[in-house]
Amino acid sequence: MSNQFDVVVIGSGPAGYVCAIRCAQLGLNTAVIEQNVAESSQPLLGGTCLNVGCIPSKALLDSSHRYAEAAGHLADHGIGVGGITLDIAGMMARKEKIVAQLTGGVSGLLKANAVSVITGSATLNAGRNVEVTSPEGEVSTYTADHIVLAAGSEPAAIPPAPLDGDRIVDSTGALCFEEVPGRLGVIGAGVIGLELGSVWARLGSEVVMLEAMDQFLPNMDEQIAAESGKIFAKQGLDIRLGARVTDTEISGDGVSVTYTHKDATHQETFDRVIVAVGRTPRTDKLFSADSGVTVDERGFVFVNDYCATEAPGVWAIGDIVRGPMLAHKGSEEGVMVAERIHGKAAQLNYEVIPSIIYTHPEVAAVGKTEQELKSEGVDYKVGTFPFAAIGRALASGETDGMVKILSDADSDQLLGAHVVGPSAADLVQQIVIAIEMAASTEDLQLMVFGHPTMSEAVHEAALAVDGRAIHMVNRPKR
Ligand code: FAD
Ligand code: NAD
Repeated sequence: MSNQFDVVVIGSGPAGYVCAIRCAQLGLNTAVIEQNVAESSQPLLGGTCLNVGCIPSKALLDSSHRYAEAAGHLADHGIGVGGITLDIAGMMARKEKIVAQLTGGVSGLLKANAVSVITGSATLNAGRNVEVTSPEGEVSTYTADHIVLAAGSEPAAIPPAPLDGDRIVDSTGALCFEEVPGRLGVIGAGVIGLELGSVWARLGSEVVMLEAMDQFLPNMDEQIAAESGKIFAKQGLDIRLGARVTDTEISGDGVSVTYTHKDATHQETFDRVIVAVGRTPRTDKLFSADSGVTVDERGFVFVNDYCATEAPGVWAIGDIVRGPMLAHKGSEEGVMVAERIHGKAAQLNYEVIPSIIYTHPEVAAVGKTEQELKSEGVDYKVGTFPFAAIGRALASGETDGMVKILSDADSDQLLGAHVVGPSAADLVQQIVIAIEMAASTEDLQLMVFGHPTMSEAVHEAALAVDGRAIHMVNRPKR
């Protein structure tokens, strides 16, 4: 293998591998460097998303949902299932099989696109020279006209709750518990806390979530966050806001957690604790001081709107740069950068990136929240519609939640959509398409939605924006 490429991508997560494939499709001689190695000594591709993130968490969310359905909700449908058993080892094996299938798929795609895969830990030095240390300790140097940094992120740590890898774990540890914890403490009621807390709660854990902020899901639309909080409480998640963990102590088979809440000190004992307090960009050993790459005060690589760093020919994408830490955001940055390297004026609409919490029901959002519009002084219209009035939701027994649509009061242009409820992710994706096509609320009102579908809640919420929903009594508009 030559040591000179058109493009070298560091990191094979959803940002890096997608960028590499698109570069190769555009005829660029491309290499990907990945430090993760499987037991077979082969590079372990796919990054956080495929190995310890999106995919394994969704596998467990789906398995645990089926268990909870069988153990409880199927009776509502008149279906009796006796003698339900839980095989955690089997559930984990299924998850691992899915991960292996997808990581193997990435390997196959890179091979089919003639992308070279280099195993080792990479550091970018001056002059776009990349030094790679193999797992055996051998050092090689590669150069390229373009370097794409896609090193991802890792779980953030907090001093009062150091991980021991057994009783106190991060998200990776929480994806492979060998038994259901009796009492599970979760520090951080964000996306990971809610998803993994839900997995173990459905399988039987008593889950207590300790969240430092006084507000639940502060980046979400406030009305949808409040509605979601009620639904999660009904499901048994004990979410304590304004709870600051000050100490943890592992003793015997438990963890004692001390936290303060409204100036009082409290203590709880758990079988296991998950620390889910955010993620930090993996940039500390990624480049040398003379590489020309700069970072902000939180360690994110400084880039412009097109993911170009301050060093000529060096780009950065995915979790190591500003913006939401989401797989699809990183992948689309990867495509944009590949196109730009090839000379096209590609860009990404950062205003229209959907985000989803894969609880049941899901919570999903795109565009502006109501509080953002208020603080920006935008004159807006709002329409909401509850799933309880949707025939398909009633038929499915999935009546919790609502759709909320926000649009500009003057132009009628869609500005945001927020959903908690069945198929929320897919419903919000409809609005992503609508916003990208510059649709108005009236466009949605005039469209025909199939009956009976959950999508009818989108139609009705759009009608409700102008006080003309059919299947509920419209409140007078402000
Ligand atoms: P990563 O996926 O982290 O990949 C970076 C890769 O670079 C890694 O393989 C790493 O080994 C490699 N690397 C790092 N440094 C070097 C180096 N110096 N040399 C060589 N290789 C290096 N996002 C969603 O959109 N939807 C979800 O449902 C979702 N669920 C999640 C669930 C969990 C539990 C977690 C933890 C995350 C989840 N995320 C989800 C977030 C998502 O996983 C990340 O946003 C995404 O993986 C980031 O992609 P990336 O390519 O930037 O980085
Ligand atoms: P997060 O930012 O979503 O939530 C972290 C929570 O921890 C916040 O509510 C924060 O206030 C709280 N917190 C911080 N310090 C604390 C402390 N000392 N004590 C108690 N609470 C504290 O981060 P996360 O849940 O760790 O997820 C990390 C990233 O991974 C997110 O940016 C997310 O986008 C991504 N992710 C996405 C998905 C998805 O798209 N479905 C799923 C999982 C993770």
